[in-house]
Amino acid sequence: MAELPTNIETIAYVVHGPKEDFKLETIVLDDIQDNEVLVDMKYSGICHTDLIMQQGEIELCKYPAVFGHEGAGTIMAIGKGVQNKDLKVGDFVLLSINYCQECKFCKTGHPANCTEGTRLHLFGTRPDGSTAGKLSKTGDSLRTHFFGQSSFSKMSFVQETCIVKFPYPPEQAAIFASMGCGYQTGSFSSLKNGSYAYEVD
Ligand SMILES: [Zn+2]
Ligand SMILES: [Zn+2]
Repeated sequence: MAELPTNIETIAYVVHGPKEDFKLETIVLDDIQDNEVLVDMKYSGICHTDLIMQQGEIELCKYPAVFGHEGAGTIMAIGKGVQNKDLKVGDFVLLSINYCQECKFCKTGHPANCTEGTRLHLFGTRPDGSTAGKLSKTGDSLRTHFFGQSSFSKMSFVQETCIVKFPYPPEQAAIFASMGCGYQTGSFSSLKNGSYAYEVD
């Protein structure tokens, strides 16, 4: 297997504190972990939750942070422990929410209800609490795993559970990126027009 890239310099829209602007800055990502995939973002949707976090209305993610959770892009490298052997460098992928794979909801095919969701989505860190990112200028630690992906970064170490292969021409992904969150949580719940009961026990 080819050597995995390390200390990747890229650019990202960084938020330094509540109500501060999204600032385009150079950042550095350290080392890809076993369950991560390096994605070069081509598109990202922007969702209400990104703006709520930028406004500081949910105080779960420390600043500085990179938000964005509707990414779409090309796989540049694959961590050694990634379970989905169908993924290859060069594949174009859409990104959705990450999930724990262990709780009763994940194990019964309902990862959107993952009991670890709040921590995995909103803390902006990896599941173990670490972060891959640093600000290039100051070396300050930076949250780069918002919803397991921080898609407002040009390059990002994305958790494997976020990844869905996109089997169509990549340019069509511009209209599909918002499927990652907004379409599922907003539009689909309206279209569904009613509650949905899960049988998990
Ligand atoms: Zn779970
Ligand atoms: Zn969202």
